[in-house]
Amino acid sequence: MAPTVTDAAGQADASGSAAANGTNGAAASSRPNAQPDAGVQADASAQAGRSAQAASSGQAGATTRTVTELADGRELIYYDRGTPPTGRAVADLRPLDAAAPSSEVRQDPMTGAWVTVAAHRQARTYHPPADECPLCPSREGRLSEIPAGDYQVAVFENRFPSLAGDPGTHPVPQALDDPLHSRGPGVGRCEVVCFTADHEASFADLDEDRARLVLDAWTDRTAELSALPGVRQVYCFENRGTEIGVTLAHPHGQIYALPFVPPRTAKMIDQAARYRAATGRNLFDDLVAAERASAGQPSAERPEHPDGSRVVLAGEYWTAFVPFAARWPYEVHLFPNRRVPDFTGLNEDERAEFPRIYLDLLRRFDRLFSDENRKVRAPYIAAWHQAPNGHEDELALHLELFTVRRTADKLKYLAGTESGMEAFMNDVAPESAARRLREVGSTTPVAEAAPVTPTAPTTPATPAAPATKTTDEEPQR
Ligand SMILES: [Zn+2]
Repeated sequence: MAPTVTDAAGQADASGSAAANGTNGAAASSRPNAQPDAGVQADASAQAGRSAQAASSGQAGATTRTVTELADGRELIYYDRGTPPTGRAVADLRPLDAAAPSSEVRQDPMTGAWVTVAAHRQARTYHPPADECPLCPSREGRLSEIPAGDYQVAVFENRFPSLAGDPGTHPVPQALDDPLHSRGPGVGRCEVVCFTADHEASFADLDEDRARLVLDAWTDRTAELSALPGVRQVYCFENRGTEIGVTLAHPHGQIYALPFVPPRTAKMIDQAARYRAATGRNLFDDLVAAERASAGQPSAERPEHPDGSRVVLAGEYWTAFVPFAARWPYEVHLFPNRRVPDFTGLNEDERAEFPRIYLDLLRRFDRLFSDENRKVRAPYIAAWHQAPNGHEDELALHLELFTVRRTADKLKYLAGTESGMEAFMNDVAPESAARRLREVGSTTPVAEAAPVTPTAPTTPATPAAPATKTTDEEPQR
């Protein structure tokens, strides 16, 4: 069930009055039935909705959103836990011209992969000084992309998008009269998700309530953007660290509403179909079940990697593991145990457990390369895979989290085999990476935790919450 977000009173968005009856008890819910109840519009019903959600979720406050517009017409949405403070609808006073981004998508005739060509992005903001950060709240004399003086989570349309324009006004790109030169307008939508107003923070520093709010924002955006005509897939992701190429230090992620199915997803669709044809079962169901079954098994049953399983975290509703054929030195895939096509399919139990699991995972990444002498935060890409429209029956929502860092001093560069042939060579055995990720467990952000030593497991400051347990063979708590 996905009823996660209600509109703030007086700021209702007219587009979301569709079904709020998420009927996704089955593993693969159909997206049209999984819309969030973003359409609660009247003040009274909005209040009722919030009350009902607060009661049902057991949380201190449910999520509300306030939809506003920036000076150049781009949409800005504030997400708040509980009743939003007044002043959310503050006007954007900057003298911005309407942006006129234009890009096109071209299909590689040899591989079928779509490439987006967006030359206007060369002018985008590049490593601004902290006092000119466009993602910090606006202050007197320094106006940013966020007009409000403070915020919890804010989502706005990127001023320098790779994809822009109403997808509904353009055909989905496809080979037409000239199959060697398939091209189309780069329509779609690119949004920026600010996780916190704190410029110095990182996602791993957020508290669980804030992480839940981000999940609710991802869910709301997925429902709304995937309903736009022409959008094939909604891709939520975060790049963290200059090593990844991040140009804005402020903690933020992005959402792309894509007008095509990207290559990695296309391969998964093919693999899932092949697996179904061969076994009659769903690929992702079997994958997650097999990894979970491996946790804590005697090594005699797993002669191919006697050091143990690849599971890093096994919650009641989520499982994180290093994939069997990991491409990156440290790569973790996080799945809800019950298969759903996207964020809108998650039920309240799954949503409630998510913040604890996800924050734990990110904090482990922060500990991988830190020691008593220095804190080395792992640069990472957190890529959320969601089923494209039309593939909800077989594909599974999951996170692919990975870092390009191999050691505290070494990065993995994509070179001849990877960039040239898309054939990855990984220097770290997946089972070793999993063991290391289990060893660095902690429930506190790295900045607040006891020093980490590379060889000894750390003692967490507080015990793990009941629904979460690590699955080491070695005791570590
Ligand atoms: Zn900032």
